[in-house]
Amino acid sequence: MTQAGTAKQCRRCKDQEAVHSIRSDPICNDCFCRFVTTKTVKRLEVLNRETRSSHTGRPSGDGSSSSVRKFYAGLSFGPSSAALVDVCEQIILGRLSRGRDAAFTLHAVHVDTDLEQAGSELLTEQRLDRWQARYPRFTFERVPLSDILNLDTIDWAALLPASSEKNTDVSKPSSPAQLRALLDNLPSATSRRDMLDLLVRRLLISRATSATETPPYDALLLGSSTTALAERTLAETAKGRGYSLPWQINDGVVDDGAGRQIPLFYPVRELFRNELVLYLSAVAQPPLTEDFVLLPVSTTSSAAVVSHKDLSIEEVMTRYFAEVEANYPSIVANVVRTTAKLERHSQDHDHDHDHSNDNHSSTACRVCGMPLDEAGNERWKGEIGHLDGPEGTPMLRVERLCYGCERSIHG
Ligand SMILES: [Zn+2]
Ligand SMILES: [Zn+2]
Repeated sequence: MTQAGTAKQCRRCKDQEAVHSIRSDPICNDCFCRFVTTKTVKRLEVLNRETRSSHTGRPSGDGSSSSVRKFYAGLSFGPSSAALVDVCEQIILGRLSRGRDAAFTLHAVHVDTDLEQAGSELLTEQRLDRWQARYPRFTFERVPLSDILNLDTIDWAALLPASSEKNTDVSKPSSPAQLRALLDNLPSATSRRDMLDLLVRRLLISRATSATETPPYDALLLGSSTTALAERTLAETAKGRGYSLPWQINDGVVDDGAGRQIPLFYPVRELFRNELVLYLSAVAQPPLTEDFVLLPVSTTSSAAVVSHKDLSIEEVMTRYFAEVEANYPSIVANVVRTTAKLERHSQDHDHDHDHSNDNHSSTACRVCGMPLDEAGNERWKGEIGHLDGPEGTPMLRVERLCYGCERSIHG
């Protein structure tokens, strides 16, 4: 992306030397920074507009209309969520320098998915300490994935493999090791990655809607790039959860499974992953290095594939889009734009949410929490073929799981 040596003029400011090539424009570093922050600010403005009109049914504070909003943000330490935190800092600094208020603050949370390995907790805490020292206006927190075991909105019995049904004493994992074992027992790499991603998402949503938080968080922000959203679009479609795409890919209100709702937004959704990776080294000052960010080794397309059997659909998509993004970026953007046109049908997320949607639990998948689209789900089953579990698999167990979860858990 960086053009070394050639003293080209920046196409945007027509003043400084162009050092990057962004969407086929030679541009300077300042203009690149502005490009990234503007794309993000525009999404935050949409968030602001849509949630100010308070059709989420959430009380907007205590009525004192404090103008600084509180966002809960996922920080995976991947390049996109890392860039999101820095971009938010830049946006706030820009506002303060113009004599305005900060507008919002972040509580950034890293869900630690390392369930057993001793020492990882300390490393994660140290990494978060560096984030905290660098961005003192925000707060940072480590949340172990095992906290998900406290959620009664997940149907653990449905998650257990059919074979363990005889062990009536095991109805729910009760320790990190048991949760690890449950994930390890899933039928494939795709299943394991799928369930892990789902649990992280559900934990973040549940934490963000926490009833004990006053005032409540105004929104949950996730740092998914255009590229990440495109990957998920194709991966979820392949896994039979295509009907849930509007809830997974589009900005909007999500439910925590216990009747509490929160707007979930992807503020960097209009930026490609490679642009956010470039941002980390070219714009963030000092650069956000490995001390802060984990650059996933598996996304480098040259990484050797040891065994395709061990590759999840998500990893296949990541490899695929790493190439597509470099050569045909508009295809990546189109995948996401097409999904954005899909509407959320099976649940009424329109204005004036009364609190009478207590039937939610009966219409949501008991594992991933996505609303069950009965007709759509049946179509998926019909087209892909009915799941004929091992003889004796009671259909009762699976009837309230979406097709995607059913496949993930039972193979
Ligand atoms: Zn410029
Ligand atoms: Zn599901």
